[in-house]
Parts: sequence; C-alpha cells; structure tokens
Amino acid sequence: MDDHTGAPSHARVAVIGGGNGGLSIAGRLRRRGVTDVVVIEPQAEHCYKPLLSHVAGGTARASETVRRQADVTPRGVRWVQDAVAHVDPERRRLELGSGASLGYDHLVVAAGIRQDWDAVPGLAAAMLSPAGASNYLLDLAAKASPLLRDVRGGTVVFIQPPGPASCAGAGQKPMYQACAYWKRSGVLAGIRVVLLVPDATIFGIPEIDAELERKVAEYGIEVHTGARVEEIDAERRTVVFTTRTATAAPRAHSVTYDVLMAEPPQSAPPFLAESGLSGPDAEGFVDVDPRTLRHRRYDTVWALGDAAATTNSKSGGALRKQTAVLAANLLAVLEGRAPHAEYDGYGVCPFTVSRTSAVFAEFDDHGRLAPSIPFWRRSYRESRLAWIIDRHVFPHIYWHLILQGRA
Ligand SMILES: Cc1cc2nc3c(=O)[nH]c(=O)nc-3n(C[C@H](O)[C@H](O)[C@H](O)COP(=O)(O)OP(=O)(O)OC[C@H]3O[C@@H](n4cnc5c(N)ncnc54)[C@H](O)[C@@H]3O)c2cc1C
Repeated sequence: MDDHTGAPSHARVAVIGGGNGGLSIAGRLRRRGVTDVVVIEPQAEHCYKPLLSHVAGGTARASETVRRQADVTPRGVRWVQDAVAHVDPERRRLELGSGASLGYDHLVVAAGIRQDWDAVPGLAAAMLSPAGASNYLLDLAAKASPLLRDVRGGTVVFIQPPGPASCAGAGQKPMYQACAYWKRSGVLAGIRVVLLVPDATIFGIPEIDAELERKVAEYGIEVHTGARVEEIDAERRTVVFTTRTATAAPRAHSVTYDVLMAEPPQSAPPFLAESGLSGPDAEGFVDVDPRTLRHRRYDTVWALGDAAATTNSKSGGALRKQTAVLAANLLAVLEGRAPHAEYDGYGVCPFTVSRTSAVFAEFDDHGRLAPSIPFWRRSYRESRLAWIIDRHVFPHIYWHLILQGRA
C-alpha cells in the first residue's frame, strides 16, 4: 500500500519497526483476521540483511538486498512512515518523531538493535577510510566486495565485537568467502588473515566450532579468542586489542592492517529503556517473558526479534519461530483466552565457509544443536545444500512468505 503519511489516532495493534519481525508479525495478524494493524517504520527501503554478507563476500549484488518498504508491507496493514520517540505503556500511547501520537490496544515492539559505530575509538573513522569496510551496512558491504577482491598480499583483519549482536557470527562470513577466493586465485599464502572473536572459542557450540576450526586451519587464519578491540588508528591502520582468558591476566596486542572488516558493537535502542520497557536484567532490551514474548509488567506490550530481551541468539531464523508464538498468544488474548504458545529459544546462523558451501548452525538457548529440517540432522556439517538454501532459497522465502506472515 502506498498511503503511509499521517498517523491514525488509534490502532488495535501497533507495531514498532517494519523490519523482519515487524512485517512478519503484522502480516500474520492480518491474515488471522486482525483488521486494524499499524506498522510505524521510518525507512523508505527495507533491507534483507543476511544477504549483506554475500554482498561483502562478492556472491550477491547490493541491489538484491533492498526493496521499497511500500512494496513489502503486507496487504491490509497500514504503514506510517515515522519513528517512535517514546512509549507510554500505562496510557497505551506512542509519541512519534513527527509530533503525532497514536493510541493502541496492544503494542508489538520490533525495533531491532542499534549499531554503535562510535563505541570503539577510531572505528567510525576507519570505516570512512579507504581501507575499512563491513557487512553490517549496505554501503559498507558494497565497498567491501572490491576491497577484498583486490587484496594480493598484506594483512586483513576481521573483528567480531563482544556484547549483544544481530547474528553475531555474521562478521565471519565474508572472511571465509574471501579466503576461498584468494585460495583459488593463488594468493592466500601471502595474506595474513586475522580474526578477533570475543568468546573463548570461535562460535561457542562444540560441533560447530569443530567445523569452523577445520576451515580456519584450511585457510590458515590467525584467530585471537577472548579479544576486545580497545582502539583503532585509522591513519596508521592499526588495531589495538586485548585478549582475556578465565585464568591469565589480560594481554595487550596491536596489528597493522591493509584491509579492516568490522562488525560494530551493538546495543538496545535507547528509547526502550527511556520508556520504561526494559528491566533490571534486560540490558535495555524489552523485558518480555522469553517463552510467551509478553511483557513481564505490561499485559498489552509484546516484543520479538533483536529488540526483545529473550535468551536466544538474535537472528532472523529465531524470528520465524517467535512470530508464530507471538501471533498465537496475542490472538488468544484478543479473544479473551490465556496465552499458551511457547518459544523454545531456537536460533540459527548459516555460516558461508567458502563461495559454494555453508555450515547451517542451528541451536537452542542452552547451546545444544537444534536441527529443524526433518532428515537433515547433520546440517551443521559443511555442505553445498546449506549454501544453496542460504544464498538462493532463503531470499525468496523472505520476500514472498516471511514478510507476508506466511512462514
Ligand atoms: C549483516 C547481517 C547478517 C545477518 N545474517 C543473518 C543470517 O544469515 N541468518 C539469520 O537468521 N539472521 C541474520 N541476521 C540477523 C537478522 O537480520 C536479524 O535478526 C533480524 O533482521 C531482526 O529483525 P528485527 O525485526 O528484530 O529487526 P530489524 O529487521 O533490524 O528491523 C527493525 C526495524 O525497526 C526500525 N526502527 C528502529 N527504531 C525505530 C523507532 N524508534 N521507531 C520505528 N521504527 C524503528 C528500523 O528502521 C528497522 O527497520 C543478520 C543480520 C545482519 C546485520
């Protein structure tokens, strides 16, 4: 629908954010008969973020990742092009950036996660310099592709930050793709590839760690675990970082790079805590029951996706399960019944480990493998099938089914 100017005064269900989670839940509710669903989303274009890793790694075009918000908003759902500045959960009202306000019966918060490019001194400047890029923003992903392609020697550093993150391991994906390209071009042996990861192992689940470590050994990647970047000097192209283990004192290091690929530190959008929607252990995210996705204190507030203080690893794959649960529970409440559906903490990170293969890492919030596709229990092993699903099947499912609330 194209009329997205001006907010109505009231919505049966208001949804903050028209990204992956917001459009999926809006579409599901609309399809299940809720007629007055309003999505508040400031951006005119919608990005399919998993494909950004392929853009940076040189296996997708930037144009494939973006569609007009008006074209992806589910039919029958009203899109208001605005940003929510404040939520008053007691009075059930939203204040919008334009100055308008909107009342609601129920609110679904799907505002995503914030990218904190200024959290590390020098990171933003490094991204503006010719040697810096990332797969976490479209323009930086487009910049990364030729930058990585043209490396013939020197040092390339990949950074994955500590703290909450949207698909935390995604920062590693262009690295494996670039290594496969350099290997095929015969230049890999002359390139020092350095990966900084925040945790004690490369991913955190033994079976997946083993699969990724096999690729790390194949490509000769130098991995620093327990790493935290302290500072980047964009002019001298130097990353200063510390490594920590449970037993030893922190150690300081520095590495000079020819190309830097960084995943930004991430945190909750500040307006959530400012509106009283967070809680003592929620780190600024919306304080929902991680099983029902209903707010712990406000019965008419729900949240899902990257903005929710759930226990899972934040990902689009997790959202597929969350939207089904939230829709069932919200519909039950609208019909006067108790919410009964429970989200099981499922998450997924498809690691592209070459230019033709991927590791389909599916797991629960206890760090156990949780394969979701029948008869494919070893989806965490490197395969061509996982690549085809990630690169070619998922984008179609996303644009045509997930965003419409059909999957
Ligand atoms: C580089 C990258 C690669 C990824 N790869 C994968 C992958 O391979 N597999 C996978 O499953 N997941 C992957 N993910 C994670 C996945 O994209 C996210 O988990 C998912 O998009 C989260 O959906 P969301 O609706 O919570 O947030 P988003 O999709 O980020 O949407 C949030 C929306 O809220 C809007 N918003 C923010 N503030 C306000 C406000 N104040 N008012 C109104 N609207 C607001 C934003 O503009 C945005 O459109 C990746 C993420 C990134 C960044």
